[in-house]
Amino acid sequence: MTGNRTFTMIKPDAVENGHIGAILEKITAAGFKIVAMKYTQLSLRDAKAFYAVHSERPFFGELVEFMTRGPIVAAILEKDNAVEDFRALIGATNPAEAAEGTIRKLFAASIGENAVHGSDSDENAAIEGSFHFAGREVY
Ligand code: ATP
Ligand code: MG
Repeated sequence: MTGNRTFTMIKPDAVENGHIGAILEKITAAGFKIVAMKYTQLSLRDAKAFYAVHSERPFFGELVEFMTRGPIVAAILEKDNAVEDFRALIGATNPAEAAEGTIRKLFAASIGENAVHGSDSDENAAIEGSFHFAGREVY
């Protein structure tokens, strides 16, 4: 259904730092239902495809290296107004600018290593969700 799903990744930095459980707790406490989830690692090819929109940016190499360096948690989340509400829950891209209590404020160290991903539109939520999950893996 349009408008009620978003896609997230708990990024390698947050996994390395042992924050999977705390981040999932914040997500479910905020009213998101997990409808798909997996623990996986992006290949170079996956990361380049996933972040293709940033391929001309100066930080692209660094971003791909970071996103592939260890496992991630990928998930599809369901809630009314999911995309916007989840972006509010994770906070600004740069944790230094993220609001108090947001996931990036609590768990991220820098603009490059910022703990979580959140889709930026309903259209991208659908594209990103199907990038990671087959229909039968979504409940
Ligand atoms: P995401 O798409 O991961 O949820 P976002 O939508 O807040 O993050 P984008 O502009 O889409 O931010 O950037 C994608 C990712 O690229 C960021 O989350 C961050 O990891 C990295 N990134 C963005 N800007 C920079 C930068 N100036 N320097 C280093 N890395 C950056
Ligand atoms: Mg983005």
